[in-house]
Amino acid sequence: LNLTLPGFLEQACKRFPVRTAIHFKGLELDYQTLWVYANRFAAGLSGLGIEKGDRVAIMLPNCPQYVVAYYGILLAGGIVVQLNPMSVEREIDYFLSDSGTKAMVVFAPLLPKVAGAPSSANLVKKIVVDLPPTGTVYEGDAVGFEAFVAGAPIPTSQVEISPEDVAVLQYTGGTTGRSKGAMLTHRNIAVNAYQTYVVMGGEQKEQDRFLVVLPLFHVYGMTVAMNAGIVGGSQLVILPRFDLEETLNTIRETRPTIFPGVPTMYVAINSHPKAEEYGISSIRICVSGSAPIPVEVIKEFEAKTGGTMIEGYGLSEASPVTHFNPLEKRKPGSIGSTLVYTEAKIVDVSDRTKELPPYEAGELLIRGPQVMKGYWNMPEETAETIQDGWLHTGDIARRDEDGYYYILDRKKDMIIAGGFNVYPRDVEEVLYQHPAVQEAVVIGVPDEYRGENVKAFLVPKPGVTLTEQEMSVFCREKLAAYKVPRIFEFRSELPKTAVGKILRRTLREEEFKRV
Ligand code: ATP
Repeated sequence: LNLTLPGFLEQACKRFPVRTAIHFKGLELDYQTLWVYANRFAAGLSGLGIEKGDRVAIMLPNCPQYVVAYYGILLAGGIVVQLNPMSVEREIDYFLSDSGTKAMVVFAPLLPKVAGAPSSANLVKKIVVDLPPTGTVYEGDAVGFEAFVAGAPIPTSQVEISPEDVAVLQYTGGTTGRSKGAMLTHRNIAVNAYQTYVVMGGEQKEQDRFLVVLPLFHVYGMTVAMNAGIVGGSQLVILPRFDLEETLNTIRETRPTIFPGVPTMYVAINSHPKAEEYGISSIRICVSGSAPIPVEVIKEFEAKTGGTMIEGYGLSEASPVTHFNPLEKRKPGSIGSTLVYTEAKIVDVSDRTKELPPYEAGELLIRGPQVMKGYWNMPEETAETIQDGWLHTGDIARRDEDGYYYILDRKKDMIIAGGFNVYPRDVEEVLYQHPAVQEAVVIGVPDEYRGENVKAFLVPKPGVTLTEQEMSVFCREKLAAYKVPRIFEFRSELPKTAVGKILRRTLREEEFKRV
C-alpha cells in the first residue's frame, strides 16, 4: 500500500479510470480526468515556484475544484492549509501568517476579505474559483482556476513524497480558544481514510457513493467523506452546503450509500414532515460524529427514515477518527471501540499517569498511526498534548467491559453545580426525550451560592410552545435534583459552527455579558 494521499488517488485512477469520481450539480468527472487535472494543477504550482513543504491554502465551499486543488497541492509536495470560508479578515490574517502560506485557492466572493488581511500581501498567487465558472479574466497576483489549469505545463516529473511528510495543516478551533495548526502527515490521513473505509464495510462493496455534504475544510469531511471515498474508488456526490431540501432531493436522485454527517443534520431530517419519502434507507450507513448524538435522535431517525445510524468519534489531532461502532454490533449512546492499530486508555483527570478501570470516568487518551505529528510552531502545546506518544483528547470518557467507549463530555464543559459534577450530555439526553424538543444544549452559568447553575437552551419543534415549568417537571422525574436545569431559555435556533456543532462558547459568552 502506498501510504500517501496521491498514492491512493493514483491507485483509484488505475483501477477505475472511467468511473465517476465526482458528481456535482449534474456535472460528472471520472477518475482519470481528476488525476490529470490534479497533476496539471501541481505542475502549475511548481511553475509558480512552490516547492516541497511550502504551504498553499484552500478557502472554498465544497466543489470539484476543492478536490483538484487539494490533490494538486499534495502532488506538488505542498502542505494544504485548510481554511473556513466563513473566517473573518482577522482570522485569515492569523492563519496566513502563522502558516507562512505562499499561495491560495480562493472562492471569488471572498477576495475582498482576503485583501483585507495584511499578510495576504505575501501571497505569490491567488487562484480564483468562480462557481459556476464565468470565464472572468483575473490579472496581477490573481488567476482564474480554469485558466491556471489550462495554462499549466504538461507534468514531466513527480515530486517525491514520503508518508511522513506533512500533508495538511488543520487548524483546530471553533468551539474553544486559540487556533492551533495540527500537522497531519500523509500517513496519518491515508491510514485514517483507509481505517474508516474498512469499518464502514466499503471493502466488500462493489461501488459506494459518498454524500459529501460535510464541509471539506473540516477534518471530518476531508477524511471520512472525501479521502475515504477516494480510497475505494467511490463516487463523491458533492453538495456545497447542508440545505435540508437540497440534501434530501440529492439523496433521492443519486442514491448514495454512505452519508457521513453531524447530529444537527440528522435532527433537521427528523423534523422534515416527509423525511420517509426520500429513500434514505438506500444509504447503508449514516455516520454521526463530531458531537454527541442523543439516543433519542438515533431512534427517531431510524424509525422515520429506515436508515441505519452509526456513531463514531474523533478530533482534528487524530486525523480525526479513533473510535467507531462496529456495523454488526453497535451500541447506541456509545462511540464504539477503537479502530485497528489504535489504542485508547482512560486516566485520572488530575493524576494523568493513573490508568482507570472499566466504568470509571477520566480523560481519554489515544495512541495510533493517525495521531498528528504535533502543532505547527507550537512545541510547548505539542509536548503538553502528546506525552509518550499518547494524545490527550481533553474529553471525559469511560469504557465498558466489552471495550466500548462512552464520551461524557469535554473536560472544559463539565459544570460544577453546588459541588456536584454535572455532565451536560446527561441532561441533554433527557431533554431530547421530550417529544416537543427539537434541539437542546446545556451550559453552566455563574451563581453566587452554587458556583454554577445548569442552564438549558431549547429549540421547540415547529408549531409547539414549551414552558419552563413543564420542562422543569419533566426533568425532575428523570434526573437527580442537582442536574435539573434551574433556568430554561427558548430560542428559534442555536449558534453553530460551520460543521454544525452547537457553539456552547458563544452561549457562555452571551451569559457572561449579561452578568
Ligand atoms: P476545539 O477542539 O478547538 O474545541 P473543534 O470542536 O472544532 O475545536 P474538533 O477537532 O473538530 O475540534 O472536534 C473534536 C471534538 O469533538 C472532540 O474532542 C470531542 O469533544 C467532540 N466529539 C467528536 N465526536 C464526538 C462524539 N461522537 N461524541 C461526543 N463528542 C464528540
